[in-house]
Amino acid sequence: MRLWLLAPGGIILFLLGLAAGRFYPIINILWLLSWLVFVVLTILWISRHYRRIESMLQEEPDPKLVNKAFPVFINDFARVDLGLTKIYRKIENAALDLMDQKARQAGESLDMILSATTDPLTGVPNRKQLEAHLKRVFGNTNPLCVVMADIDHFKSVNDTYGHDAGDIVLKQFASTVKGGVRPSDHVFRYGGEEFILICSADINETMEIAERVRVKVEKTPVAIYGDLSIAVTASFGVAEYRSGDTPESIMKRADKALYVAKQSGRNRVCKEASF
Ligand code: GH3
Ligand code: MG
Ligand code: MG
Repeated sequence: MRLWLLAPGGIILFLLGLAAGRFYPIINILWLLSWLVFVVLTILWISRHYRRIESMLQEEPDPKLVNKAFPVFINDFARVDLGLTKIYRKIENAALDLMDQKARQAGESLDMILSATTDPLTGVPNRKQLEAHLKRVFGNTNPLCVVMADIDHFKSVNDTYGHDAGDIVLKQFASTVKGGVRPSDHVFRYGGEEFILICSADINETMEIAERVRVKVEKTPVAIYGDLSIAVTASFGVAEYRSGDTPESIMKRADKALYVAKQSGRNRVCKEASF
């Protein structure tokens, strides 16, 4: 470090020489030498600390390289930088946790909504959703038909093969009905072994849809225990939207048509009585 004083020392000697009005070669040589020493020392100093500077710019500076010999402000800068990186990571983790929590809450709310509006046995929307759906489409969708479907002699399935077998029949019936209608039609479990189909079609087209479903049900035996399969049939009542209808009035007419289907021998599709 003391050698560095040679540089300003050389300047002072040079100035003294000028002040004396003489040019002393020896002073001039000393001055040149001192500057040479100054330049060499500066180069050495920079190269010695180069690795240390590099280390400081890393996220985790090597403590061996960051020592007191280096200017304090660079050390501080490295520590502040490291501290900020840590804070940033904490904020980032907290934000991710929050997003996770929100996603879980949204998932739970969705589960709650679905379990409140979906029939747990068959997975189709329940009566609550049917009511909401009818309110939504009533008066806005034309043509519109309601089909009431009811499994024939379902009680005897329960009585003969047990309640679990009855549940299997219900599940398969729901999936057959869903698979038999168009994507734009809607299937709901109304209660027990009764299902409702809402079709955006006129009565003739809806009769065809219901007939297609009826045949599919009839042709699809339900495997209940091992090799044991039973035949299942259903009856259908169809009613079309009329001006002035309410959800209750159209459901009532579909129910009446279903009653006719049951009375006239079951396993059939009947439409409401005309005006
Ligand atoms: P019909 O041909 O006239 O419709 O006769 P049905 O035997 O199908 O009709 P009924 O109303 O006499 O019997 C319906 C039965 O459905 C009675 C009830 O115990 C049964 N049931 C209702 N809900 C369920 C359910 O979730 N699972 C099972 N296994 N049975 C059910
Ligand atoms: Mg029935
Ligand atoms: Mg019934």
